[in-house]
Amino acid sequence: MSAQQRIVIIGAGFGGLYAAQGLKHARADVTVIDRRNFHLFQPLMYQVATGTLSPGEIAAPIRSVLAGQKNTEVFLGDVVKIDLARREVSLSDGGMVPYDSLIVAAGSRSAYFGKDVWRDVAPSLKTIEEATAIRHKILFAFEAAERETDPEERKAWLRFAIVGGGLTGVELAGALGEIARFTLKHEFRAIRPEESQIFLLEGSPRIMSAFPPDLAEAAVRSLNKLGVNVKTGVRVIDISDQRLTYRAASGDCTMHTRTVLWAAGVTSSELTESLAVQSGAQLDKLRRLKVNPDLTLPGHPEVFIIGDIAQIAGSDGKVLPGVAQVAMQGGEYAAKVILGRLKGKPVTKPFHYFDKGSLAVIGRGSAVADIAGLHLSGLIAWLIWLFVHVLYLVEFRNRIMVMIQWGFQYITFSRGARLITGPTQTPSRSVAPVRGAPGG
Ligand SMILES: Cc1cc2nc3c(=O)[nH]c(=O)nc-3n(C[C@H](O)[C@H](O)[C@H](O)COP(=O)(O)OP(=O)(O)OC[C@H]3O[C@@H](n4cnc5c(N)ncnc54)[C@H](O)[C@@H]3O)c2cc1C
Repeated sequence: MSAQQRIVIIGAGFGGLYAAQGLKHARADVTVIDRRNFHLFQPLMYQVATGTLSPGEIAAPIRSVLAGQKNTEVFLGDVVKIDLARREVSLSDGGMVPYDSLIVAAGSRSAYFGKDVWRDVAPSLKTIEEATAIRHKILFAFEAAERETDPEERKAWLRFAIVGGGLTGVELAGALGEIARFTLKHEFRAIRPEESQIFLLEGSPRIMSAFPPDLAEAAVRSLNKLGVNVKTGVRVIDISDQRLTYRAASGDCTMHTRTVLWAAGVTSSELTESLAVQSGAQLDKLRRLKVNPDLTLPGHPEVFIIGDIAQIAGSDGKVLPGVAQVAMQGGEYAAKVILGRLKGKPVTKPFHYFDKGSLAVIGRGSAVADIAGLHLSGLIAWLIWLFVHVLYLVEFRNRIMVMIQWGFQYITFSRGARLITGPTQTPSRSVAPVRGAPGG
């Protein structure tokens, strides 16, 4: 066995990857464990869900990203348990990985807040499989509407509801508005896709609560231009494959829709529960672990908790949001602390988050940006969004591919990745017979 320190990183998302890269020159054995063999750039997932980009363009094999780091090995494995007393990580296949230092960066998963039955009818956008399932659902709805002869059923196929007016919901709604208004405009014969109804439903009094009110208002205006109907202060109380019911101040309302998409919330990785029990650390309502100012788990200076699973306060005392920058900076900080310890020069400064600003894209040429107190909207914000997202894509090849796709889409409105993959549904009712088929 090596006499070197063993550093284990769970998760190669934004936090884990930045931690691993920060340990590139550590005189230690670094092991990165992830249940997927790729790093996923989640902020562009809505573009996969709406057919602009293909899954491979927003993902990169972890092994290839870290190939140049001689001190680092990558394991494909699903961590099921962390034993704090024995300093061991257990994998679902029975594998056991010991550590001296551990960085847990397992991220979050979508949450239906006790209504897990909605998961089947209203897919969320958290994994690449879910993104392609949403793409399937959206594209299939237009196909089914084209062959539907019952006017009410046809309207239901062309009625889309997105639950949750945060960043993901807004970006999905904007992209859907664009597909309906522009991309598919001339491609169907029986339906007019631009007559689709798109609803964005939000429980709070306004959408995008993480953004300043004026930018949220600018986002609503841009969404309206794309035909998106934004409803705030409404709570969804039932979803089925045919209907959605929400409660508003004026009473309950049911809409007939065949496509409901879920963007209403996340909860931490399942690993946080057991860590809380073992360490006595507190969990907040999103099941995030309350950590020390140096991102370590209370009572365990050898264990760092970073990214979406950590509850950390910013310099204003407010809890930091679950965004990529918080995870990246957390990863860099944890790596720096471990390096300091290895060199016998402990880092004493607590974690400090530097807010580089927030961005949200609403459609082609339209975005909002809050950067160092500067509120921008429209084309300038969109150009910044474009630059930042390409800059942070992990692989150079992906940057080139994405730039080409976006350039092409900007000029032509087309979306090149509009494939309906996976098992195809068949519209069940009132569907026009196929020409040439028996009885048709
Ligand atoms: C649709 C969407 C859009 C978003 N848009 C933005 C945006 O525009 N801007 C922004 O800043 N943020 C955005 N975010 C949030 C951002 O992606 C997250 O805050 C960030 O990914 C958190 O990083 P992380 O390292 O904590 O977790 P993740 O990046 O989620 O990585 C977690 C990793 O851990 C692995 N893992 C989990 N559990 C296990 C286990 N038990 N065993 C092994 N491996 C495991 C996962 O496979 C994954 O690779 C978006 C998120 C989503 C879902």
